[in-house]
Amino acid sequence: MKGSPFSALPRGFLLFLLILRLPCLLYGQEPAGSRFALIPEDPRLGDPVTVIYAGAPGQGMKAVLLDTGGRRLSQAFFFSLPGDGGEDSVKAAVLAVPSTAKPGPAIIRVEGENGKNAAGIPLVLGGREFLAEEIYLDQENTDIRTRPDPQKNIETAQLSAILFRTGGDIFSGGPFTAPVTSTRRTGFFGDRRIFRYADGSRDTSIHAGIDYGVPRGTPVRACASGRVVLARFRIVTGYSVVIEHFPGTYSLYYHLDKIQVEEGALVEGGTQLGESGATGLATGPHLHWEIRVAGENTDPDAFIARPVLDKEAILDKINKVAVF
Ligand SMILES: [Zn+2]
Repeated sequence: MKGSPFSALPRGFLLFLLILRLPCLLYGQEPAGSRFALIPEDPRLGDPVTVIYAGAPGQGMKAVLLDTGGRRLSQAFFFSLPGDGGEDSVKAAVLAVPSTAKPGPAIIRVEGENGKNAAGIPLVLGGREFLAEEIYLDQENTDIRTRPDPQKNIETAQLSAILFRTGGDIFSGGPFTAPVTSTRRTGFFGDRRIFRYADGSRDTSIHAGIDYGVPRGTPVRACASGRVVLARFRIVTGYSVVIEHFPGTYSLYYHLDKIQVEEGALVEGGTQLGESGATGLATGPHLHWEIRVAGENTDPDAFIARPVLDKEAILDKINKVAVF
């Protein structure tokens, strides 16, 4: 069973399943011979998870991460891996474990079209510590964050429409490289932040990416190949660039001083997108770099550490999973 999603389970439970010859913990109309696997099998909070499916092709399939109470934590649609002998028999979905999820047992449910349950893959979410910090905002930054503005709502809706879109192109499966050469970080993924406003009131938020403390004018480069799907000024995030890398996965670059690419452009990893700055809501020059997976913010370091969409690793993994 090594290499299957079930190896995260206690041995006794595994034996119990084998003795009962339960077919893959299935509780729906699962086509005979289907196989499922996860990379990694033991994700931590904030990690991306590659869900692999091999079996009869299905349309509109999605992977849904649920807690033990059945609450939906995140989800992502499956897409086909190209060049696999022209067949669509192996599909992948990349979903994010939210940094706000509770560590412990969870389940990834693979749903067919019409929301029919196909299979449930048990897993255990690993916990991790996040930093807590307070950020004091002057009147100008307080206004940017709190003042109602219809334009802000329009910009939020525009960005959401992009980030929740699952396209069909795979420009890069990773690994990604950091967008600046500096390793000086002034903000970390998952930081629990308290914003202190100019009038003394406060609000909380969770930091969605990494802040690099770099001087204004520092070249900012694409972390991997992709298509520029947004390159414009936004009230809160200043001059902003968003790149699509593979279905459902996007990198975001905020607070730039200037943008040097256009929407629709195809870029290589390392292409200069612009120069860093302090536009939008910023207390000083820095680059905010963020990765979104099916709309959910995800730890960028996980994308630097490994190719999240590595076809060889995916095929290798699924081929080791036994068909019950
Ligand atoms: Zn930031």
